[in-house]
Amino acid sequence: MKINEHVATLESSYLFSRIRQKVKEYKTQNPGRPVTNLGIGDVTLPLVPAVVDAMTKAVSEMGVADTFRGYCDEQGYLFLRQAVCDYYVKKDISLHPDEVFISDGAKSDLGNILDVFARENRVLIPDPVYPVYVDTNVMAGREIVYIEGTIDNGFLPMPDWNVKADIIYLCSPNNPTGAVYNKEQLETWVEYALENSAVILFDSAYEAYIQDKDLPTSIYEIDRAQECAIEFCSLSKTAGFTGVRCGYTVVPLKLVSSGVSINKLWLRRQTTKFNGVPYIVQRGAQAVFSEPGLAQIRRSVEYYMENARLIAQRLAELGIWYVGGDNAPYLWLKCPDGMSSWTYFDYLLSTAGIIGTPGAGFGLMGEGFFRFSSFGKRNDIITALQRL
Ligand code: PLP
Repeated sequence: MKINEHVATLESSYLFSRIRQKVKEYKTQNPGRPVTNLGIGDVTLPLVPAVVDAMTKAVSEMGVADTFRGYCDEQGYLFLRQAVCDYYVKKDISLHPDEVFISDGAKSDLGNILDVFARENRVLIPDPVYPVYVDTNVMAGREIVYIEGTIDNGFLPMPDWNVKADIIYLCSPNNPTGAVYNKEQLETWVEYALENSAVILFDSAYEAYIQDKDLPTSIYEIDRAQECAIEFCSLSKTAGFTGVRCGYTVVPLKLVSSGVSINKLWLRRQTTKFNGVPYIVQRGAQAVFSEPGLAQIRRSVEYYMENARLIAQRLAELGIWYVGGDNAPYLWLKCPDGMSSWTYFDYLLSTAGIIGTPGAGFGLMGEGFFRFSSFGKRNDIITALQRL
């Protein structure tokens, strides 16, 4: 038996486990001192009433023979795929339910989609970014080319036409920088992908946080994107589903490579390796897209965005350079005095009892930067900002 050496080459500890370890040590050495997590990537507000009601009703249905449901369609119930299509209509995007795949969250699909692509494909990944894109491609032994996000390009790298790629990851709004591509920039990426017969894997997990009406919340707002892009979305940060687990992936029927439909390949892959999302969860997700559901989750997003505003205000008062927080729940700051991101992590924890996320965890270009998130509870954030 031989192991997959590519998995063995991955760094053993994921960013957040190292943070947890450091915080545990600090708390043991400093009992009673307040510690606030401003780096948290998980949400803190509970599920909204529309979702709770729909899931409660679904639980009751499961306890009655006539309405009990067993295995579902692997792609997801039509009622939810249709609700997703209706949500896209509000963005002036027309999708067919066959193009929507219900998932147990964006993370799984972002990793699993690689099953339908050959190993020799060349992958383009922005840096800094959500580490899952890199790790899943390292596991598969694929060649990765990084595209650098810098202060100069606003952490929104653009294509280099001299570099050929087959698979391109774009994350907008970006985790960790909070940067969002505008329409012209996405048009350039679509043009590049079409010219190179490449596919764009567009992660829009934070689309609900975009406040600026001129910024695209879906790649399909761009002409011909349905010929070259797959979109991954999640209810985790939009509707507090981090623990419930539900998302959706759009694989357009127009996306064809060498005469083969990627939609059909993905369906084949899913029917083999995935048995669908629980009925109860899908009813909860459907309620997110109802009128009351959308109004309720909008209020949750507003709550987090107000947190972001408070953090931004404090950083400005302290003269700390930052971006983000206006169309995303993340703020990306420059570590003061040239500190490395882990040094700044230790410094903030020991002097102010504040936990953040070191930029180095998001790629080489993240070194020297630091991520704050706005997912905490308001009072915790206010007291932490006073200590800051
Ligand atoms: N994509 C990005 C950019 C994320 O930051 C996250 C979670 O933090 C995910 C995807 C995964 O979301 P899910 O909870 O749906 O798996």
